[in-house]
Amino acid sequence: MRENPIYGEELDLFTIKSYVFPETLEEADELLQRDARNSAILGGCCWLKLGRRISRAIDLSRLGLDQIEVKDGFLELGASVTLHQLETHPAVTSRFDGILGECVSHIVGVPFRNCATVGGSVFSRFGFSDLTCALLALDASVVLYRGGEQPLAEFMASPIAFDDILLKVRVRDDGRRAAYQSVRRSTTDFPTLAAAVSCLGGQWTVSVGARPARAVRCETAAACLNEGKGAAAAGQAAADELTYGTDLRAGADYRKKLAAVLVRRAAEQCMEENKG
Ligand SMILES: Cc1cc2nc3c(=O)[nH]c(=O)nc-3n(C[C@H](O)[C@H](O)[C@H](O)COP(=O)(O)OP(=O)(O)OC[C@H]3O[C@@H](n4cnc5c(N)ncnc54)[C@H](O)[C@@H]3O)c2cc1C
Repeated sequence: MRENPIYGEELDLFTIKSYVFPETLEEADELLQRDARNSAILGGCCWLKLGRRISRAIDLSRLGLDQIEVKDGFLELGASVTLHQLETHPAVTSRFDGILGECVSHIVGVPFRNCATVGGSVFSRFGFSDLTCALLALDASVVLYRGGEQPLAEFMASPIAFDDILLKVRVRDDGRRAAYQSVRRSTTDFPTLAAAVSCLGGQWTVSVGARPARAVRCETAAACLNEGKGAAAAGQAAADELTYGTDLRAGADYRKKLAAVLVRRAAEQCMEENKG
């Protein structure tokens, strides 16, 4: 703790008592289970360093989780892959119309995105997360050390317990077309609302994030697109089906209106891509 020079009150800092580099996943898990409440798996520390006292910091950087691979018909993103790698790695930028790079490109700035990781972003299940919204539309799954592989949609709906390690995110390399849209009050701000769609063989997937609650899939909007009712109908369905909340960025009514617009725009963009 130190004193805030302006207000004189105590500031909670990011403090670490012991810092460890496990050499194996088994060791990382064993260290975490010893005291999960006071330990932390480290991603890029971009969020953690906003203030947290950690007894044991577990650094995964020696475990080879920083790989992007295409294998067995899946695009695999290791937990330590940075957000900027999603913008620059050809295996990512050449797939799904580049939405995984596009969706993170508004987050703070390149130096920040060179630190923030896929693991820290997905495991935290932030409501404002651009990445989880895009991954939901791609029907991604997560691979956890203890929990094994599970659909991201299921993982997103579960409560956060910091007692497992996210190893990677998997997306079927099925050639689906995709599009991502977000609105921000200013460049680099958190999204006020975000929407993503994908289309494979005429079957659509739609997700909406920053509601401001966590991103979710929207089945009625997808059904509108599957039945050929058009992008505007899908947008209206997303506005009607999902719940929207109020925070300092926007009111619930405004978010509902944004959802109709962003889902429509994303669907239209994806339809254009499909023509090309
Ligand atoms: C100022 C600021 C602005 C931001 N703006 C946006 C934005 O507009 N859009 C957006 O989507 N995001 C935004 N973010 C979030 C950011 O993109 C990252 O998601 C966030 O910083 C976490 O990533 P990290 O790698 O730094 O994780 P860390 O800060 O290291 O960790 C975050 C949490 O995840 C846990 N964790 C990390 N890795 C793992 C793992 N492999 N397994 C299990 N648990 C793990 C940690 O223990 C910790 O609890 C912003 C963050 C900040 C600080």
